[in-house]
Amino acid sequence: MIEPSVLVVDDEVQFVKTLVKRLVKRGVKVDSAHSGQQALDTLAGSGATRTDVVILDVKMPGMDGLETLAAIKEAHPLIEVIMLTGHATVESAIEGMKHGAYDYLMKPCDLDVLMNKLNQAAVKKREHEAKILEARATLIALRRGD
Ligand SMILES: [Mg+2]
Repeated sequence: MIEPSVLVVDDEVQFVKTLVKRLVKRGVKVDSAHSGQQALDTLAGSGATRTDVVILDVKMPGMDGLETLAAIKEAHPLIEVIMLTGHATVESAIEGMKHGAYDYLMKPCDLDVLMNKLNQAAVKKREHEAKILEARATLIALRRGD
């Protein structure tokens, strides 16, 4: 069992607070942000290396979830994103999955369901990273001529 590292992004401060508390209790390493821009700033710092999965609210003022998703995927293609949506914005969550989001989740979210998705997304991300390392090693071996 891996311990996923997660960034929660949602403009509802109380929602983030509660979710972070519940995730920490389950052994998840959590960062939080309250806007798309703040999420990108966090990932641009040391956040990218330690983040496996971003939980991303669809509906936020300023940069919305879809714009934030595009920017995250452009700068950090390996990070997995789970879209977080209300009933009114499921369409946007589906749009997000067409553009590289791993999955989506409806609010209010069931913590067991969320934990499952988080673990699956984190496993996918780390396997993806391992494959790239392997390919890089193969390339180096090829160049050496062994
Ligand atoms: Mg919102």
